[in-house]
Amino acid sequence: MDAQAHLHELSLSLARLPGVGRRSAERMALALARKPDDADTLVRALNATREHVRVCTHCGSMTPAGVDPCRLCTSPTRDDTVLCVVEDPSDIIAIEASGGFIGRYHSLMGKLSPMSGQGPSQLRAEALLARLVGAAFSEIILAISTDVEGDATCSYIRELLDAQDVCVTRLAFGLPAGSGIAYSDSITLDRALKGRQSV
Ligand SMILES: [Zn+2]
Repeated sequence: MDAQAHLHELSLSLARLPGVGRRSAERMALALARKPDDADTLVRALNATREHVRVCTHCGSMTPAGVDPCRLCTSPTRDDTVLCVVEDPSDIIAIEASGGFIGRYHSLMGKLSPMSGQGPSQLRAEALLARLVGAAFSEIILAISTDVEGDATCSYIRELLDAQDVCVTRLAFGLPAGSGIAYSDSITLDRALKGRQSV
């Protein structure tokens, strides 16, 4: 293979990653070819991640190799009555960082997205139903994004849980911290109004 073919192959691999377009992938491939030290650092990080990081087969969050179910699933101090359903493991990390949730998690590993070929069978929805069997969950919180695909995903999960004796809620959508009313977009403002609380 000539140099161009190697670069093309690398670009194709990079372009498979979420959020990376074809042009960005080409620029990354060129940058890595120009800077061997950066390429070495990346290879080491990739290998370490490949070796030491796994997905929890229970909740779908990231866990060290050999720790499955993960610590979030097995911690005795967490609340077994509340389950938070998210799109991706990165959402779990964000919610954990907020410190406001002590229940269990379930990652769907995506959301319904006909444009990118993501249908119901690609979501970990059946695994969600399986987790409810014999479980003590009284509330399931849908912490799903607020775009059209997120709304469709919430409706789908809501229907799926219809026959279950469990309260299904969705995260409240409010105004961004530190921002004024006048600077909010109309959808955010509408949802903030609908989700208002007594003070
Ligand atoms: Zn887990």
